[in-house]
Amino acid sequence: MATLFISDLHIDADHRDITEQFLAFLSADAAAADALYILGDLFESWVGDDAADPAQSAVIEGLRALSASGVPCFVMHGNRDFLLGARFAAASGAVLIQDPLLLTLYGRRVLVMHGDALCTDDRAYQRLRAAVRDPQWQRRFLRLRPQARRALAGAARSGSRAHTAAIDYAIADVSSDSVAAVLRGADTDILLHGHTHRPAVHRFEIDGRARARIVLGYWYTQGSVLRWDRAGYELCALPRAAASQACGGPE
Ligand code: MN
Repeated sequence: MATLFISDLHIDADHRDITEQFLAFLSADAAAADALYILGDLFESWVGDDAADPAQSAVIEGLRALSASGVPCFVMHGNRDFLLGARFAAASGAVLIQDPLLLTLYGRRVLVMHGDALCTDDRAYQRLRAAVRDPQWQRRFLRLRPQARRALAGAARSGSRAHTAAIDYAIADVSSDSVAAVLRGADTDILLHGHTHRPAVHRFEIDGRARARIVLGYWYTQGSVLRWDRAGYELCALPRAAASQACGGPE
């Protein structure tokens, strides 16, 4: 039995292959797991619990079936779906978790985050993040009609794509100072996050202690999962429409 971590699926009605692969993953891999953690950006966009589209509703049903079968499912907000709320949690059976969250996994302390809060070199993004995480901004936004919310979210995504294309590759990544700060703050050696779409296991030292930063992959062209059990963890790619898996090997 293993605990599974995924992020950055970006489920979207225009990308049926992602939804289909995710639903298959829920009924096979996840059904046999100790627990499933989704570390943000499960959805490409989420404009409120009252405005789910058919692809999103299918995902909610899949999550509900998983949690009803006895596998606990935890969902963290990402920068695309930070408006996931209590109605989503009730409908899906998933538990919304805080970012950051310190877990103890098979005896090891692991700090889990979505990852966008670590991209502190991107000052413009951090200002936007602070604005939209404000409860008053969220209440005002959620009072708009779903159609108006979708239009605003679409404009925000276009703006985000233009911004990411315009800034330096390094600025869009996590800041090593911020990584060091959260590891020191949590007094732990392992940080696990998504968001950057740069799957890898990075090893380095801080204060003379060996540390690791595990980055989950995104699901645009294939799946990505971190499996963690008593023997350790491995980051695996899940090829689309194939039973085979490509893992990095146990760590
Ligand atoms: Mn993200």
